[in-house]
Amino acid sequence: MTEDQVDLNTEIPHSARVYDYILGGKDNYPADRDAATNIVADWPHLPKSMRANRNFMARMARRLTAEFGIRQFLDIGTGLPTAPNLHEVAQSVAPDSRIVYVDNDPIVLVHARALLTSTPEGRTTYLDADFLDPDAILGSGHLRDTLDLSRPVALSLIAIVHFIPDDAEVQRIIDRLMEPLAPGSMLAVSTCTADSAPDEVAAGVAAYNANGIPLVARTKPEVERFFHGLEILDPGIVLVNHWHPDHEASEDPDAHVHMYGGIGRKP
Ligand code: SAH
Repeated sequence: MTEDQVDLNTEIPHSARVYDYILGGKDNYPADRDAATNIVADWPHLPKSMRANRNFMARMARRLTAEFGIRQFLDIGTGLPTAPNLHEVAQSVAPDSRIVYVDNDPIVLVHARALLTSTPEGRTTYLDADFLDPDAILGSGHLRDTLDLSRPVALSLIAIVHFIPDDAEVQRIIDRLMEPLAPGSMLAVSTCTADSAPDEVAAGVAAYNANGIPLVARTKPEVERFFHGLEILDPGIVLVNHWHPDHEASEDPDAHVHMYGGIGRKP
């Protein structure tokens, strides 16, 4: 599909564009802005929580590259390009890092070129594919040309699995994606929770659903279960502001952060 054939369906709010608008981006349409305004009215700390999530993504990518020697990432639910993108973080530590980005939103496809600004030593690729079809992702020639599956890969699912309400479905897909990955591969997940602010997040989730975007908040045990068979690394599954914060005290009050995050290693 070429860019001018892409149907953006701009009349309907979309998660990637709602997220982009709330984070101050420009790649969104009136329907997305209306939905975002309604949602934030009911979920006032959502912008803070989203920024805390984005910062978690950067710390996760830096740590996996610098501390664990990861050089390959499969990032599903990439979102619209936002500085810094995952490959910029990873390649600033290890220029030879290779990243496969995956998203199913046509607006991300239109902007994918901005995700493909690799260092000469490394490589980035973009796949227009659905998380719900892991075999299509794993079977893609672009993925096989970019990633060497005999070496560790970090599967990064940052702020995507909360858009899939069925736990069993998420588990099946994670297991399928991790299956062909080499020992030492990693799973990084961040996803919405109401544990830190039950009333506010319940109202916010209802607002997302009322605007046609399915969203689910999960408890810590529900998120931990996605890591079954993996060794969950220090400090466990925690609110993202507590995951190796850059400063000793985490910057945001917990009641303003509605995302759990963590990393597991495949034995
Ligand atoms: N990971 C980024 C963006 C999160 S927004 C970050 O944390 O900053 C969630 C992204 O997941 C959106 O871009 C949306 O298009 C994508 N997404 C949602 N459901 C998807 C699916 N089933 N398959 C692929 N991508 C999906």
